[in-house]
Amino acid sequence: MNDLERIAEVLAGAESVLLVSHVSPDGDTIGSTLGIMWALRALSVPVRVACDDPVPQEAAFLPGAELYTTEPYAGEDVVLGVDASDMRRLGNIVAGVDVESIILAEIDHHSTNQGFAALNYVRETSATAELALDLVRVLGAPLDGRIATCLLTGLVSDTRGFRTSSTTVDSLATAHALVAVGGDLGLVTDRLFNHVSPAARRLWSVALADQHLDEGILWIDLPLALLESLGEGEPDTRGLIGLLISFDEAKIAALFRELPEGGIDVSLRSRPGIDVATVAYALGGGGHPQAAGCQLPGALSDERPRVLAALKQALLAARKA
Ligand code: AMP
Ligand code: MN
Ligand code: MN
Repeated sequence: MNDLERIAEVLAGAESVLLVSHVSPDGDTIGSTLGIMWALRALSVPVRVACDDPVPQEAAFLPGAELYTTEPYAGEDVVLGVDASDMRRLGNIVAGVDVESIILAEIDHHSTNQGFAALNYVRETSATAELALDLVRVLGAPLDGRIATCLLTGLVSDTRGFRTSSTTVDSLATAHALVAVGGDLGLVTDRLFNHVSPAARRLWSVALADQHLDEGILWIDLPLALLESLGEGEPDTRGLIGLLISFDEAKIAALFRELPEGGIDVSLRSRPGIDVATVAYALGGGGHPQAAGCQLPGALSDERPRVLAALKQALLAARKA
């Protein structure tokens, strides 16, 4: 029996299951988690979904998004981490988990994942949603339009609408299977890409006015004062970095965002052939070759040059390859 089959077996036989989406959640972690949740509910398995941070606006339309809580681990006998490359990405939700006495499992597609759980269904795919469809199938739950729309959200979110170089024939086969059972591709695409919030629009217009281009690295600082001056609402930095890496001169795009608790969040994107996951991993973070990130403890003005130097090395390595 492989880990996928073992995970399906322990989930189906559990008295209570906790599904955990990663901190700073995106469409893939939310969509994959909710797809698995509906499959387990169809099999009458008691299941709860949790995340340290709120469901982002672009995934809030999904059925079950309102069921999320920030309530930490509460004695469930199986915990499944979804779309997280390491335990820290599951946040405080799993702080009380004793890995010796319960079953910790994970389903994930990050290239930097080292297999942190007892049961790991980890494969490099375009989205965790591809793996979540495998799990739903092995569980034997009926694949309906509701599950399909959740999983399609994960797939469309991580492939930016089937436009990333990570998109493969398997991604398209997954999309085909999900649309065939009633997944609403039009709705998913509209919710993910056509609803830039007022807060994001304000952020983009201010941030884009202060871009820096350094040897093919297009970077922007997002100091706390700037973020606070924008007023209410969640600042959508994912849309912003997606825009940056679409600019012609950018080989790598980087956002340096000051965190209210101190330190900075670094968000990285690159052109195919340039690997930013290795840089992020070396700095204690992780991700995919073309989309990665990390959190660093120091001040923006100290950390940024360190990251830029590492990114220049990644550009050199890509040129030599
Ligand atoms: P983001 O720029 O926040 O959209 O993140 C891009 C990719 O990097 C996503 O796949 C994240 O899961 C991953 N990532 C971001 N920060 C971290 C971190 N601290 N540790 C591991 N992976 C991360
Ligand atoms: Mn994710
Ligand atoms: Mn993902």
